[in-house]
Amino acid sequence: MPDATSATLPRPILSVCIYCGSSDAVDQRYKDEARQLGGILAAHQLRLVYGGGGVGLMGEAARGAYEAGGKVLGIMPQFLRTKERLLDEVETVIVESMHERKMKMFEESDAFVVLPGGVGTLEEVIELLSWRRLDLHKKPIIFLNSGGFWQPFFDLVDFTVGKKFTPDAFRHTYKSVDTVDEVLDAIAEMASHDEEIDTRRVL
Ligand code: AMP
Repeated sequence: MPDATSATLPRPILSVCIYCGSSDAVDQRYKDEARQLGGILAAHQLRLVYGGGGVGLMGEAARGAYEAGGKVLGIMPQFLRTKERLLDEVETVIVESMHERKMKMFEESDAFVVLPGGVGTLEEVIELLSWRRLDLHKKPIIFLNSGGFWQPFFDLVDFTVGKKFTPDAFRHTYKSVDTVDEVLDAIAEMASHDEEIDTRRVL
């Protein structure tokens, strides 16, 4: 868990973490967008931080970044090296566990972009959002809502808000964009809004 005392320090955006699916069987649209995002990060001298694999959208984004001359940092648990096909072309840190991977991804990044993915992606973003709810960080979180991919998730969050399990203000702790071209502006906008959001108060 991040250190609560350092949670409010303003930081420049130098590294952007992506959470995304590892499946290769998905619609080409999602892969193309992942690759495009990698290229955009590289073009803006932003380092891409990700899970370290060569599979699915993860591999596409990493290749998109390094082929465009960008910096990439992969963070891979030892036991997944083969399964997630570690990319030799990029700098990779090998860790022991999934917990260590997520913590390192968090520490190395100033903002997060959530692309379409499965339960692994959901697990990662839920933890990030839950830390935000506890005020343990204020790093921008952007969902790439390709073709409405994340709408069922937003609906579930809204449902918990409606039932008063989650404060209404929580909805301001992340942004959704429809296209890859909007991602950097959304990060900048979130980074510039440092107002307190009382995400713990429900009523
Ligand atoms: P998926 O969206 O299921 O394809 O998973 C996307 C990525 O999340 C894969 O690289 C998984 O290894 C990773 N992942 C799944 N669960 C965890 C976890 N608990 N901590 C860190 N990474 C995870």
